[in-house]
Amino acid sequence: MNQLDLLDAWERAAPLDPTGRALALLAAASTVSTSDVDDVAALPIGVRDGMLLDLHASLFGPELAAVVGCPACGERLELAFAVDQVRTDPPRPVEVLHIDGYDVSVRPPDSRDLAAVAGLDPAAAEDVLLRRCVSGDLDRLPRPSWRPWRTPCSPPTRRRTCDSR
Ligand SMILES: [Zn+2]
Repeated sequence: MNQLDLLDAWERAAPLDPTGRALALLAAASTVSTSDVDDVAALPIGVRDGMLLDLHASLFGPELAAVVGCPACGERLELAFAVDQVRTDPPRPVEVLHIDGYDVSVRPPDSRDLAAVAGLDPAAAEDVLLRRCVSGDLDRLPRPSWRPWRTPCSPPTRRRTCDSR
């Protein structure tokens, strides 16, 4: 991808939502093996984001610089890290979970799933994602057990604010 192609792809993707931007940039990039947006949209998010990291590294090098706002006070925080520091192992395509005697199949979400939940509140988005990505005896499970990761009073695992407060 030369600089003119990059600029063209960037301008076409700029008005899109984050999922649309990711798909448009990957489809435009000659560094990925697939150029069909629908094919890229069907990739698990972790695979898609790994391709975005590869694209970033090929265009700008292995370092990422980011600016985020502290959700508590609005302070701008600058971050720098290497693309390899945020990579994960590729997800398994489908996993069968055994919960309370029931079997459910779980597949990793893809860009189509994220588009389906864009704009929903977190609880509604969780329900839609579960319906889209989990199949099996979901409706027969006792309600709390199909969300075993939801535990009350779980302590935060990541600090989300800056040091200014
Ligand atoms: Zn802060």
